[in-house]
Order: sequence, then structure tokens, then C-alpha cells
Amino acid sequence: MAVQTVYKEPAPLIDRENPLESMMSRFNIAAEILGLDEETYNVLKTPDKQVIVHIPVTMDNGKVRVFEGYRVIHNTILGPSKGGIRYDKNVYLDEVKALAAWMTWKCAVVDIPYGGAKGGIICDPTTMSAGEIERMTRAYTLALKDVFGPDRDIPAPDMGTGPREMAWLMDEFSKTVGMTSSAVVTGKPLVMGGSLGRTEATGRGVMVATLAALEKLGLNPTEVSAAVQGFGNVGSWAAKLLFDKGLKIKGVSDISGAYWNADGIDINEAIAYKNAHGGRLEGFTGAAPMDPNDLLTSAVDVLVPAAVEDVITEHNARQIQAKLIVEGANGPTAASADPIINEKGIMVVPDILANSGGVTVSYFEWVQNKQGFKWTEQMVTERADRIMSDAFEKVYQTSLKYKIPMRIAAYVVSIDKVAQTYKYRGGF
Ligand code: GLU
Repeated sequence: MAVQTVYKEPAPLIDRENPLESMMSRFNIAAEILGLDEETYNVLKTPDKQVIVHIPVTMDNGKVRVFEGYRVIHNTILGPSKGGIRYDKNVYLDEVKALAAWMTWKCAVVDIPYGGAKGGIICDPTTMSAGEIERMTRAYTLALKDVFGPDRDIPAPDMGTGPREMAWLMDEFSKTVGMTSSAVVTGKPLVMGGSLGRTEATGRGVMVATLAALEKLGLNPTEVSAAVQGFGNVGSWAAKLLFDKGLKIKGVSDISGAYWNADGIDINEAIAYKNAHGGRLEGFTGAAPMDPNDLLTSAVDVLVPAAVEDVITEHNARQIQAKLIVEGANGPTAASADPIINEKGIMVVPDILANSGGVTVSYFEWVQNKQGFKWTEQMVTERADRIMSDAFEKVYQTSLKYKIPMRIAAYVVSIDKVAQTYKYRGGF
């Protein structure tokens, strides 16, 4: 059997800023505001553990391809580490490190008992068969069987993965421990211990955060327009739930392009179209095609970037017309854009707060698996909504107290909780 060389896609796009540097520059500002001691700063600035695995997978053509995969555990002082697994051709270690740290801050900001982690495999799942993805997922799980564990490190879906991959991961891990281990992973299919409300949880949190921010800005949701970048799980659910609350969604985009309707897009129609057309909006007639680069700077009140990192940069931030940005994606704003956005007086609900609804319901899923007791959808959504509004208020009050933007305030809240825990646990 022929063995191909390690499958590595070209380096990330040159105009993308390094997400790790973006994360660190905000962390540094917040650490200074808090007067964080040097020991804790040094502990938090580097991940606890980084694992790189090379996974041989037999492809459908009989050849073996070796994929490179990562799992980065940023910090576990608050509890077992938690975070998704990304399948994407542009995955790279610094990105996974940033995403893992963001999980630490995210779990701390919503006050759930987890540390932060993230995983990824450099691959293009859109060109792979289900069988190839399954073999790759199982091999990745086996390679990381000593890292994962219901009380150690608990993966979840992220870009390019979903309930199907989580089911394979749970099954493979369960085999290694000789019993069904539901709580080792979240975002599972409903029939095998997934939680009601998990699929829409991130988008729902974005909706709750948007409404809370609009209230602070004195804006009525039914008189507000929005554009949503990304129409995957997070973007489509956020768009739908905001549409249901009466916002006029004028623009949406996905990998196939951007679509604009000044009278508002019927999001239910857009979702039905996407589901009937291989998950893409291409050819959708409920809106006219527009240049995807114009979506972020379009004439709307609310902007929801819900796709990838570094889409708002120093190059386009000045042209943004929105009064409010709610970050459904992780790291959509490069640090270089922060001063411009602040100067323009745009309110930003940052990623670690805005998209924390997903990990919050992941936490509920884990609790249900451990309890062996299924919650109703109402229990899930009521509790998740409350956690999200409480976290929003805490970050908002912190931003007023220190006269700092919401983004830095969210870091201050998170780092403070982690630093206080270190003080009590001690032991350096
Ligand atoms: N991947 C999601 C995130 O970035 C969810 C993580 C989880 O549920 O553990 O927040």
C-alpha cells in the first residue's frame, strides 16, 4: 500500500493576522487593568499542554494519507478542559492555541466549571467521503485517548464537525475504556445523550446578547436592521432567532457568496433553501447577490460576524456602519481593528461572551449525561438564557466600572475569576 506524505495545506492567508497575537494583545491589556501578578500571567500566557498527532487513514482509493491533528489544553484550573474540534484545511497550531485560550476565557465569563481546550485536524472534509471522515475521527480519538476523558478533557463540535463526528468520537473512546462514556464529548445526536437545545444554543446566545445590547443602546429590535456573515450552524440560527424577534435581516452570506435584500430577507425561506441545496445559499432568489466584501460595511444597525477569524481588520473597520457588532464567530475581529472600532463608538459584544451559549448548553449536556437524567427543552433554554443575560450584565457593568470596551471587560471578568482561583488553590 502506498503511503502519501503528510497532508498539509498551504500556509494560512498572508493578510490574516495571527489569532494568537490578537488574543494576547487583549489579554495583556486586561492583565494590566487587573494588576495581574507576574506568576499567574506567565502561567496563563502559555497553554498547559499541546499535543500534535499524525494520523494515518486509509482513503477510499486504498492509499494511506497521514493527517496532522492537534489538541491544545490551555488551562484546567477551573475544571476539566472543554472545547471543540475543527476540521479545516487552514487549521494551524497558533490558531488552535488562541481558540483554546478563548475557551478558558469563555467558560470563565459564563461561570461554568471548565478550563479551555481546542482541537483540529488539517483536512478538507468537503472533499472527503463519510467513511474517510469516520476513519480519521476514530484514529484521532485513539491517538488522544489519554488526553480526552469526561473529567479530563471534553471535546465538542466546531467548524467542519457536528453530531455525526461526536458520535464516532464517543463510540471510539467508549471502546477504549470498555463502557459507554457519554460525558466524554458534547454536541452528540439527541438519541445518544445529546441535549435538547444544543444545536441552536450558540445562535440563541447570540440572539439573547444582541437583544441585551440593543436595550442598552436604547434601540427597539423591530426597528433595527442586521447583516449576518456566515450561514452555518451559528449564523443561520442567529439569523433565524433575530428574524423571529423582528429584526430586519438585510444581508446574509455563506461560502457561496453574499445576498442582500433592503426589504429584509425571509430567513425561514433562506434556511429551507439552504437545506434543499446541499447546505448552500447559491441561487437563492429571496435576495440579490452582493460582493461579500461589502457585507461587513453595509448599511445596517447590527453586524453579526459568524464565520471565521480576522474578517474585521484595520483595512475595513473604518467603513463599518453598524452601531453594534455581536461576534458569533471566534476571533472575527483582528486586534488591529479594536482602536478604530472603539474610536467610532461601536459597541462590540465580544466572541468570548456572544458565542458562549454553545459551550453553556454543552455543559448542560455533560451534566445531564453525568446525572443520567434528561432535561426538557424549556429547562435548557431558560437556564441558558439566564446565564447569558447574567454574563452580559456582568461584563457591561465591568465596562462601565473601568471605562473600558466590552471586549476588554469580558477578559477582565474571566482573568479575574481564573486568577482568584489560582490564589485559593495556590501551589506554584
Ligand atoms: N466549538 C464551540 C465553541 O467554540 C463549542 C465548544 C463546546 O461546546 O465545548 O465555543
